[in-house]
Amino acid sequence: MATLSFFGAAGTVTGSCSMLETDSGTFMVDCGMFQGNKTVRALNHQEFPFVPEQARFLLLTHAHIDHSGLLPKLVKAGFEGPIYATRPTVDLLEYMLLDSAKIQESNADRANRRRQRRGQDKVYPIYEEQDARKTLKMLQPVDYDEWFEPIKGVHVRYANAGHMLGSASIEVKFHDKETKNTMRLLFSGDLGPDEKVFHPEPGGEQGFDYIISESTYGDRNRDDYTLEKRREAIRKELVDGLARGGNVVIPCFAVERSQELLHDIGTLLANGDIPNTTVYLDSPLARKVTTVFIKYSHTLDDIEIDEEKLFKDKNFKLVESVDESKAIKHDKRGCIIISASGMADAGRIQHHLKNNIWKKEATILFVGYQAPGTTGHLITSGEKEIRIHGQNFKVKATIRRLGNYSAHADQQELLDWIIERGPVVGGLFLNHGDDDARAELRRLVAEKGWDIDKIYMPHFDESFELRAGSAKSKGRAPQRMDESVLQRDWFNDYAAFLIQLDDQLEDETNPEKRRELIAKLKSVLPKA
Ligand SMILES: [Zn+2]
Repeated sequence: MATLSFFGAAGTVTGSCSMLETDSGTFMVDCGMFQGNKTVRALNHQEFPFVPEQARFLLLTHAHIDHSGLLPKLVKAGFEGPIYATRPTVDLLEYMLLDSAKIQESNADRANRRRQRRGQDKVYPIYEEQDARKTLKMLQPVDYDEWFEPIKGVHVRYANAGHMLGSASIEVKFHDKETKNTMRLLFSGDLGPDEKVFHPEPGGEQGFDYIISESTYGDRNRDDYTLEKRREAIRKELVDGLARGGNVVIPCFAVERSQELLHDIGTLLANGDIPNTTVYLDSPLARKVTTVFIKYSHTLDDIEIDEEKLFKDKNFKLVESVDESKAIKHDKRGCIIISASGMADAGRIQHHLKNNIWKKEATILFVGYQAPGTTGHLITSGEKEIRIHGQNFKVKATIRRLGNYSAHADQQELLDWIIERGPVVGGLFLNHGDDDARAELRRLVAEKGWDIDKIYMPHFDESFELRAGSAKSKGRAPQRMDESVLQRDWFNDYAAFLIQLDDQLEDETNPEKRRELIAKLKSVLPKA
């Protein structure tokens, strides 16, 4: 009997990683990085709760780092491949995994410098460049809509998921000895909205034993986001932002979102719809990824795209070196700065926030999902002060958020996609969503006549026996993480406490009172 396990993206949206054990062999779907607060990110350093060598191959739905980012770690831990992915995904990973390896190495270097000063032991990067290079060699490109057989008895077919360049839903068929049936499974991957620049809406087959569907926006319908309305919304934000007299800083994912923004801003500049200003793309990864988009521009689904002009404008400055990046702060004219990471918890965007967030005339414009506990989430939640690189910064800039850039299907689109893929015999698993989102989606699917007892919300590290007519939980692997810290962990509390303490000490002008406060706080600590 087949067993399906969820080793990530259960009750959360990051760290996608599933394993399917069948009579013919064991394989995996995705192996993504965890993103969020420090406790969630610490999972990236822990050992996998399964034996990587056991998996005979891996099916990758798309290139986003929360689906692909731990592949080099998997390889380092003994997985021998192959890894199947669409051609654009393979090309994107070429840049993304090497970039990620560099980030892991420099994070470890920075931590070690700090740890050395404190007399602590060295830490090691999650993986290094050599692991990423080894992983890239295991990639096997596949085409959409064509069946292939990675191991005898398991048949696989990729279908367009409309989420990003190369993204796919994956259909899997295999013979099950116990039920003497052919089992048909469908992994949604991340699903795109109906109307998205570059990509047609997601498709797929009908009638399955089990569907495993994402549920990111299971509790939300988005504002209208036709291409025209979206472009109008960003136009207004940029015009208003520049009119405040400062920079417009946009934390942005390097892959796809940066290209969408460049495409929209380029169009607005060409039409004279926004002021003639410099647009910095300060993300070496985004710059490289842009070349992959140009390579596949013939497959992009937008009639306005002219390959010669794509992502090119005299106002665009594609920043490469660290020195060039630092020099942006001397540009006093009011400019647009697009930089990664999209959740502002790493990368060059943190420097741009440090230079701008305390300025009244500046604007910070968020255009993507912010996972709980990330710097981006704290800022968009209205925190008045934040900590970056151990320093406090008052939030004086205008904070704006555009919801219509999402690469994800919203509630109605998810519901439609699921219902159109039906009927299901065994059941529906809802993963890749916060608990509220999937509970709401579950309720709505049940309202359409699906058996609510067969709509499962898997826990983190939970496994299920896939029986002929329904699934049965086999329980959870020994716990790696308490799900309650997903929203807020002790690091978040600690940072908030430090900010409050600093402010209190600063506001208190009487030195004796300051000493009293410190003595009082110290008195509750255990004796050193
Ligand atoms: Zn994605």
